[in-house]
Amino acid sequence: MSMSRREFGKLAGAATVATAAPMGFVRAAAKPRVVVIGGGAGGATAARYIAKESRGAIDVVLIEPTRMYYTCFFSNLYMGGFRDLSSIGFTYDKLASDYGINVVHDWAVGVDRDKKHVALAGGGRVSYDALVVSPGIDFKYNDLPGYSIEASSKMPHAYKAGTQTTLLKNMVDAMPAGGTFMMVAPPNPYRCPPGPYERVSMVAHVLKHANPTAKILIIDPKNKFSKGGLFTEGWEKHYPGMIEWIGGDVHGGIKSVNADAMSVETDFDTFKGDVVNVIPPQKAGHIAEVAGLTNDKGWCPIVPATMQSRKDPAIYVLGDATIAGDMPKSGFSANSQAKVCAMAVRGALTGSKTFPARFRNTCWSLIETDDGVKVGANYAATDEKIAKTDGFISQTGEVAAVRKQTYEESVGWYNGITADMFG
Ligand SMILES: Cc1cc2nc3c(=O)[nH]c(=O)nc-3n(C[C@H](O)[C@H](O)[C@H](O)COP(=O)(O)OP(=O)(O)OC[C@H]3O[C@@H](n4cnc5c(N)ncnc54)[C@H](O)[C@@H]3O)c2cc1C
Repeated sequence: MSMSRREFGKLAGAATVATAAPMGFVRAAAKPRVVVIGGGAGGATAARYIAKESRGAIDVVLIEPTRMYYTCFFSNLYMGGFRDLSSIGFTYDKLASDYGINVVHDWAVGVDRDKKHVALAGGGRVSYDALVVSPGIDFKYNDLPGYSIEASSKMPHAYKAGTQTTLLKNMVDAMPAGGTFMMVAPPNPYRCPPGPYERVSMVAHVLKHANPTAKILIIDPKNKFSKGGLFTEGWEKHYPGMIEWIGGDVHGGIKSVNADAMSVETDFDTFKGDVVNVIPPQKAGHIAEVAGLTNDKGWCPIVPATMQSRKDPAIYVLGDATIAGDMPKSGFSANSQAKVCAMAVRGALTGSKTFPARFRNTCWSLIETDDGVKVGANYAATDEKIAKTDGFISQTGEVAAVRKQTYEESVGWYNGITADMFG
């Protein structure tokens, strides 16, 4: 069945389409069409900027299975009791109503790069002139023996926000008095380098009040971690004696996890916890692999100036799925890359003017109430990579007023980026 754009818009326009199953094949429209896979930090921003700045000259279709996107950013603050869950959840309603984006709630399950269309789980297909892929991460279960989707209900990763985050929070709240919270940290590269250590801080904040004799153990495959000096200083100051970090050189390597025994086996010893948060090794979201956009390590090479895939110039890849040079995998990075991509897509499809790519990122972390720290940088595109041009980081020993201001800055950023993504 073929369907006109108008008919397609009626079906998909109001973010209320349960599935695109009855849609059949959607033909390319008279004006160019951009299809965006993934409505997270990269995809939602790109869809909104392309729709807004092309002023109707480009037809934008956003494919995203969930109706409510929970941000991973600030999910640690939910864990620490600083926010409730509803404050980090967003719908796609405004993208549809205010920007005319066709939001299709379905999974993209295939990309035909020759015919330029995306296949949907519900059975339909959507053609594109340019495709933006921002599917976030998936997990390399095979790289951590014993871990699986099933095991994640006993040892949550909470590294995709929503039910996993709530599950882990409930476990922390119900942990026996004097019990052990154990985290298995991920190897590089992974989503949000300071994320695991901010999470430990937030769990410590909860336990300090509700379960003060509890312990936190971090089994880390790495020998150092992002903002290590700042976190270590903060942990000694706010949670003395509670947190122990064991790096790769000390435990000799993580061999397996056992969800029934709630244990983690390393070369050196087997560790047990009452609550075990396993953050597994990561790769680009599965659809990137299906579309043939990944390298042998599971990540997507891109052209820094435009965010085009190095495998296909009609496809742009954003966010955590990419090999983004010096940029970390963060929501801020994905949002910044999305704006570069939106400009390049408009230039390619409508001939609008483009400018040299500039990127920015800051990662804030909360260690304890009003004790915020940050690391950030500016970046430019070179032929080889997205290269850091200058950067900054919080210093150890900063006065309380500076740390409070840093935390307040992060709240301003959160309000700004979520408005930038969802309108
Ligand atoms: C605990 C934690 C704390 C964090 N804190 C911060 C922070 O303070 N600051 C910061 O900048 N970043 C932070 N991050 C990182 C940030 O969440 C990610 O870097 C960011 O979300 C990446 O954006 P993305 O678009 O690549 O992926 P996502 O935001 O994950 O979006 C991907 C979307 O694609 C959809 N999708 C996947 N596959 C398909 C498919 N086949 N078809 C259709 N849709 C699909 C998913 O449903 C999802 O909505 C944190 C992450 C974690 C886990």
